[in-house]
Amino acid sequence: MPSIAPWWREKLLAWYDAHRRDLPWRSTRNPYPIWLSEIMLQQTRVAAVIEHYGQFLRRFPTIEKLAAARESSVLAAWSGLGYYRRARMLRTAAKIILREHKGKFPTTAAGLRNLPGIGRYTAAAIASIAFGEPVGVVDGNVERMLCRFAGKNVVCEELWATVNVLIDAKRPGDFNQAMMELGATVCTPQAPACLACPVVERCATRGELARSEKPAPQKKREIHFSLLCRGANGSGKVFLRQRPGNASLMAGMWELPEVAARNGASKPAFRLRHSITVTDYSVSVWRECAIPQAEGRWFAISKLKTIALTGLARKILSKAQML
Ligand code: SF4
Repeated sequence: MPSIAPWWREKLLAWYDAHRRDLPWRSTRNPYPIWLSEIMLQQTRVAAVIEHYGQFLRRFPTIEKLAAARESSVLAAWSGLGYYRRARMLRTAAKIILREHKGKFPTTAAGLRNLPGIGRYTAAAIASIAFGEPVGVVDGNVERMLCRFAGKNVVCEELWATVNVLIDAKRPGDFNQAMMELGATVCTPQAPACLACPVVERCATRGELARSEKPAPQKKREIHFSLLCRGANGSGKVFLRQRPGNASLMAGMWELPEVAARNGASKPAFRLRHSITVTDYSVSVWRECAIPQAEGRWFAISKLKTIALTGLARKILSKAQML
């Protein structure tokens, strides 16, 4: 790879200049919104991030506002993005930046890695995009593309060494974004668009590389929730329970009470599907007026937008036309 580095940079950056997507976080060098976008983009699709990114920045336009916010407000603004640990870490890191760095971000990948929620990839992405440090990044898209280009599965450390050789020292932020963008939009997991690829002439695979292992199959599970309401819809209330603070997933978030499966001929008010990591859920929602058995609270339907709801609770309440 070192011998083709100049060729790779030229091809990749010319392609990026002509085809880059106009994403909202690409119009700034301010580390705060760049950091926010990188954390949001972890395990979340670009389209979903675009929906939440602007809203989040309007609510917390500066790192000072984020550090001063209550955790429940940050979780509410994060609601719908999933993996809520990211939002908690974001707020914790904002407090550390204010307390220990006088409100200024560390400017190197090594310094950024000391902050909670910032791993090797995120540190390199922020350092290169916001501060111009020539450090490469390897995400799933870059890994797939480089393995196909090389025509073999390449081990992780070798990939990191490769991107650090390839990187363009004059435009490291653009180079890293171009690598990720090429993987995400051209060298896609299925049916890569090789004819549109700027490095096709030297690619060893030009298509999908045979996988060494099959992905784990999705598990299936049925779950039931109770939609307890009182009052007329305009001034009505809905009953929600809070997930325990020590829950491994979505701790402290609000959701509908889960209930046991119903027997007999009765039908749920509606059904929907929901996926979390490797599990596909078939969800039945039962509309009820009974006194709640679970611990929880009544919330005004008009206030639901300000509450830290789980993604599934949002989906159910939207389908019930309460959000
Ligand atoms: S030529 Fe095809 S397989 Fe090779 S890197 Fe480009 S898009 Fe991926």
